[in-house]
Amino acid sequence: MALVVQKFGGTSVADPQKILAAARKAIARQQSGHQVVVVVSAMGHQTDVLVDLAKQITERPNAREMDMLLSTGEQVSVALFAMAIQSLGHKAVSLTGAQIGIRTDSTHTKARIRSISTDHLRKLLDDGSIVIAAGFQGIDQHGNITTLGRGGSDTTAVALAAVLDADLCEIYTDVEGVYTTDPRALPEARRLPSISYDEMLELASLGAGVMHPRSIEFAKKFGVKVLVRSSFKDAPGTLILSAEESTPRPASGVALAKDEARITLDNVPDQPGSSHALFSELAASGIAVDMIVQNVGQHGRADISFTVPADDLPEALDRSRKVATALHATGVSHDAELAKVSVVGVGMERSEGVAGRMFSALSHEGINVRMITTSEIKISVLVDRKDGPAAVRAVHRAFGLDAENGDGTGDAGGTALVKSSPLDVVRRLEGMEDLAIEDCQLDSSQALVTFTDLPDTPGVAADVFEEVGRAGLVVDMIVQSHPRDGRAEISFTVPAGSRDRAIEVAGRIAAARGARVADVPHVAKLSITGVGIRSHAGVADRLFKPLAEQGINIDLVSTSEVRLNVVVAAEHGQQALAVLRGAFGLARS
Ligand code: ADP
Ligand code: ASP
Ligand code: MG
Repeated sequence: MALVVQKFGGTSVADPQKILAAARKAIARQQSGHQVVVVVSAMGHQTDVLVDLAKQITERPNAREMDMLLSTGEQVSVALFAMAIQSLGHKAVSLTGAQIGIRTDSTHTKARIRSISTDHLRKLLDDGSIVIAAGFQGIDQHGNITTLGRGGSDTTAVALAAVLDADLCEIYTDVEGVYTTDPRALPEARRLPSISYDEMLELASLGAGVMHPRSIEFAKKFGVKVLVRSSFKDAPGTLILSAEESTPRPASGVALAKDEARITLDNVPDQPGSSHALFSELAASGIAVDMIVQNVGQHGRADISFTVPADDLPEALDRSRKVATALHATGVSHDAELAKVSVVGVGMERSEGVAGRMFSALSHEGINVRMITTSEIKISVLVDRKDGPAAVRAVHRAFGLDAENGDGTGDAGGTALVKSSPLDVVRRLEGMEDLAIEDCQLDSSQALVTFTDLPDTPGVAADVFEEVGRAGLVVDMIVQSHPRDGRAEISFTVPAGSRDRAIEVAGRIAAARGARVADVPHVAKLSITGVGIRSHAGVADRLFKPLAEQGINIDLVSTSEVRLNVVVAAEHGQQALAVLRGAFGLARS
């Protein structure tokens, strides 16, 4: 018999009437011949209310007690939901995370799911009950209640859909699906009929609050079909599915992470091991680092910059200062008033001029770009926090995302019940949410071009990449480091065959702006692919450490949720590949 998991978010169960309306949806599903598991969030803003209560007692509440407190929100809503179904004449049983057997690690307030037992659930479903599961919570090996992090009910729902081999996981929320950007922030945003796992993973982890990023990790790893739809309106929604089933677009969406902070260590010795020293220290405190940029530097020293969520800034600064002293760096600077704007699309790789289009749009608004990193399917820029909303609007428009039927894929409802299969890597995992590394590949076909001493003014990146685009050069990785003393530095890679042309164009651009150009005719790019690369703290460091031990220096890095790229000197390519395959437990190729 087909099985469907339905999840109702806070607004969808905010009062008794809404709970009754949601209960009717669950009953209708059951009556159409499905077994139904319902995952429920705390009512309305109850979790915020509980957080606030704790803060009134103490500024730094104990994490175990916080989980004890926050899990009560969902316990209230599952009981009421079950009562609602019963009052409408149907069988329902509510269960807490512990009663289901959702086992997690012991990282209170952001625990990860290790395993889920299905026996109890199956018995209740076979008995004709609708099972109402408390979202967001689990239990560790010592019997402590844990929670999965804010927004974590999505993750409970998709994880249950994975272990129960559900045909569909429906996420009922207060918008009609996944939009090209947050529709509350930008009314021109449009609903996407479908989106691939990789794009949704990137968007969610780069700031699109509609889905908990970890839920999409589950969906991709276990091949769960997810349908995001409105609780209040009978509309088609957005189907999240594998790349093979979705339409590649240069840009599917734009995300804004409003509260970002940047830290820079100045004049770090430019030698293998410096990055490892820094990022292992940060990983030890569980801080997930995002944009990592090292400039080319002078006299054997370079600046290393990275971003963290603003909440992690105090801890990240403490740790960075400690490492800076140990490495004899000359200083640590930071900026807490930043935002990160990202454009995501799986078709980006195959379209020319995507970066140029984004930078031009920002330049026309007079928005200064503080840092840039790219991966195959996303471009992220760091801007001043006050510029965030205008930047999203400009980029959204530049990619035509506000246009009627921009993607022309139509509604995806018809494919809703075709299941995908789990990734091979899943069989090797101990815990369901463990980091899943699929592969590591070497690409030795690129050259690296670097501009130094560019003026740090709005529009520089746009000028550079518009001209590079006009010259027909296909650019792969782009990195702009944090400017120092009013001068910026931009590096990019191109196919080695275009190197001469790239140097000629770059020389012209540099001469017009008083900048300098350097290049490395052959570099090696190593790409590690998988799921959970950014959300698991310390993945980048697992790469820095073995490379440092072999004395291999890293020229460029870019991180994304599904990919980690590093560029090293060409002569180190094969050695780096072997080292990284070993470090991530992959068979030698
Ligand atoms: P729930 O309580 O149902 O889990 P959330 O508030 O967590 O709901 O998520 C839904 C909200 O996500 C929407 O109200 C919307 O403002 C926000 N959002 C952010 N980015 C997007 C996007 N790209 N598409 C749709 N909604 C988005
Ligand atoms: N109630 C929790 C929160 O508000 C979990 C969730 O709603 O997904 O974060
Ligand atoms: Mg949510």
